[in-house]
Amino acid sequence: MRVLALESSCDETACAIVEGCTVLSSVVASQVEVHARFGGVVPELASRHHLDALAPVLRGAVEQAGLRFDELGESLDALAVTDCPGLVGALLVGVQAARGLALATGLPLHGVHHMEGHLFSTLLRRADQGGAEAHELPEHLAVLVSGGHTELVLVRGLGDYTLLGATRDDAAGEAFDKVAKLLGLRYPGGPIIDRLAAEGDPEAVAFPRAMMNKKGNLEFSFAGLKTAVATHIERVGQPDSRQALADVCASFQAAVVDVLVAKACAARRLHDCARIHVVGGVAANRGLRAAFEAAAAREGFTFATAPLAYCGDNAAMIAAAGAARHRRGWLRAVELSSSTSLDDPILAAAAGVGTG
Ligand code: ATP
Ligand code: MG
Ligand code: FE
Repeated sequence: MRVLALESSCDETACAIVEGCTVLSSVVASQVEVHARFGGVVPELASRHHLDALAPVLRGAVEQAGLRFDELGESLDALAVTDCPGLVGALLVGVQAARGLALATGLPLHGVHHMEGHLFSTLLRRADQGGAEAHELPEHLAVLVSGGHTELVLVRGLGDYTLLGATRDDAAGEAFDKVAKLLGLRYPGGPIIDRLAAEGDPEAVAFPRAMMNKKGNLEFSFAGLKTAVATHIERVGQPDSRQALADVCASFQAAVVDVLVAKACAARRLHDCARIHVVGGVAANRGLRAAFEAAAAREGFTFATAPLAYCGDNAAMIAAAGAARHRRGWLRAVELSSSTSLDDPILAAAAGVGTG
């Protein structure tokens, strides 16, 4: 099942071609430099940069896969595009380009939910990697941690998603970005805090772990943690050495990681699930990966996450989700829906609608 996908929901313009879950090509044009000086994504700038980046990114992905642009209709089985959730002006760029490609090639076009794409990131592999390829999402508890989401989702298979808990305020990635800003670090803050945390003492500052031991509560809250970091800075001043900065980063990261691991493990036990998958931009965090590995060894569950290259936004994960849907004949037409949750009834209903 060979699928080309476009992704432009936030600040990455991406195109990829996959064969099932094997990545034949993946090109990502990141706009972080554009948005860094504003400390966050500026929607209008994102849309404009998607417009500029889309054609070269598309051409690059087709060339990297060794395909010819004028033969796409014959060399592919389907197209896919992220149509929700995301910045609407940004999504539109990818969606309109994908509609154009569908018209020109006659290929079916699958609308893919961005977070369903993140679920597929754990199955992605490069063409030069050996071994058998997995096409299907196994039953698992998904920990979706990214710039816009922090959710625990019970995944029973493609299109079968039950939201168990989400954040009441900031997403985990958003917390990393906001705390980085408080510390005078650049956007996006996640990777910078990750690096600094490795040099720091996670017990240097006792930051709060919201609702961590509240039995049966699977919700998150990170706004208070952000405020606690701000209060700490007000009280003792900005860190005056690299070590002091690393200590604050390590202590903040430990608070986020502790809560994510504790709640995910509680949800897994509650639903008697044998696997935990961690996906989304924050899944790249080394402290988080290590903590889940340790928990898996301790509690005896299987832990999987995405290869580092596919934690952040990319089109390979969208293409893999599109390929899985195409294999089943589950076509959901592009709809730019304003829904954000993976278990939205509109999307769930579309999961079972065959293409014929
Ligand atoms: P969503 O997927 O919810 O729509 P998004 O697509 O903008 O949001 P992603 O690209 O999946 O988000 O993830 C970006 C987020 O991941 C940013 O907040 C960034 O700081 C965070 N992030 C990236 N690398 C790391 C890391 N190593 N440690 C912690 N956070 C990280
Ligand atoms: Mg991004
Ligand atoms: Fe994302």
